[in-house]
Amino acid sequence: MNRANDIKTPINVGKEVKIRGWVHRLRKQKEKTFILIRDDRGGVIQCVFPTQKIVPLTIESSIEVTGMLAKDDRAPEGGYEIRGSSLIVINIADVDFPIGEYQSAELLLDYRHLTVRTRRMIEIAKIRATILKFAREFFIEDDWMEVTPPIIVKGAVEGGSTLFKLRYFDEEAFLSQSAQLYLEALIFSLGPVWSLTPSFRAEKSRTVRHLAEFSHLEAEAPGVCLNEILSVEERLISYIIHNTVRERSDSLNFLKSDVPSITHINVPFDRITYHHAIDTLQSRDFKILDARGKKRTIDVGDDLNIDSERELTKSARKPLFVTDYPIQIKPFYVKEDVHRKGVGLSADLLAPKGFGEIASGGMREDDILSIKKRMKIEGLDPLHYEWYLDLRRFGSVPHGGFGLGIERLLRWLANIEDIKDTVLFPRTMSRIIP
Ligand code: ATP
Ligand code: MG
Repeated sequence: MNRANDIKTPINVGKEVKIRGWVHRLRKQKEKTFILIRDDRGGVIQCVFPTQKIVPLTIESSIEVTGMLAKDDRAPEGGYEIRGSSLIVINIADVDFPIGEYQSAELLLDYRHLTVRTRRMIEIAKIRATILKFAREFFIEDDWMEVTPPIIVKGAVEGGSTLFKLRYFDEEAFLSQSAQLYLEALIFSLGPVWSLTPSFRAEKSRTVRHLAEFSHLEAEAPGVCLNEILSVEERLISYIIHNTVRERSDSLNFLKSDVPSITHINVPFDRITYHHAIDTLQSRDFKILDARGKKRTIDVGDDLNIDSERELTKSARKPLFVTDYPIQIKPFYVKEDVHRKGVGLSADLLAPKGFGEIASGGMREDDILSIKKRMKIEGLDPLHYEWYLDLRRFGSVPHGGFGLGIERLLRWLANIEDIKDTVLFPRTMSRIIP
């Protein structure tokens, strides 16, 4: 069956065309009835019928229309319309389709199973699919092997407070927060590997950039140094954004994304050290909230939160790597620089214009004693990680990798305020239906 965009071409004018779809908009006049029909990829075309010949229709009824294609500049979305000769009703929708033009964000989320039919959600879904396509294409062309690590796991990666517990037969298990430890196990026999899996974090604070379930793209490679890891990250992201801009410029423009400035992004991305970031924030008298909710100037040892990330990138033109974090504010697996005690060999990547962290990567610690010590500090039971420590016992090599949040990338690229809109069925602390 044809879609609206295939039908709307000059060579079809004057010919009989047929389309199946849903009644997207309906306008009844005395003489004529105008139906905007939406196909199964969100394309729309206007169909016109004489009002006295048409059966009663409702919004979202599924129909099949046959008629002659005509050019009419008044017709929306391209100036073509179908002068209908036959209309078959497949299903008449109930009259009270709940999604209209002005609805609260909460209602749109309550009805997400129907909101996915709106133009905005359709365009977002297309951009998302294109991002995933080019991510995969990048790794294939760059000779990385795709792997599928487990989702049900026994150990935390990113700290116990955001773990989702589940009953696994007769024992306790968790939903994976990150595939990293498993990717680390695979580099010894498969070389550079990557995966795209859902990661789960029981994020208890409501923010516009945290989901309880997100699409996590992770990569890990043996025999690399930090600069090589960062170079893969920037080449990957650059490849994805430029190809997505090329293929989805209509969708991006519809969402009011800043396409021209994204088009100008090139590698290498910018870099600053953590200390430089703190100096910059202090020089602007940037304040953070302490544990008791009191404002104080940011200081060395504080992690960068969304507000500090926004301050650092508000006028940035390209993504910014923050390097050289103090090791104590990074997870147990981050490698300490042997030449600079206390400095972690890792980097977070911040998107421009305050969109915040989109990726995080670095070298992995290979000293077993140090890993065990830091696991204890983080409250993790080293017994659950014996298998991971084996990776350091048997032929360990310097290695590193990174994790990229697909929704964070999409949020920045498509200029989406709330990360909940980057997924079709968002999972947050207050939402698991639909
Ligand atoms: P943040 O400080 O923003 O919470 P994080 O340090 O917890 O991020 P990592 O553990 O380094 O993030 O995870 C790697 C990437 O996964 C992040 O850079 C981000 O893109 C993405 N990510 C992490 N947590 C979430 C979440 N709750 N929702 C969506 N994406 C996330
Ligand atoms: Mg986090």
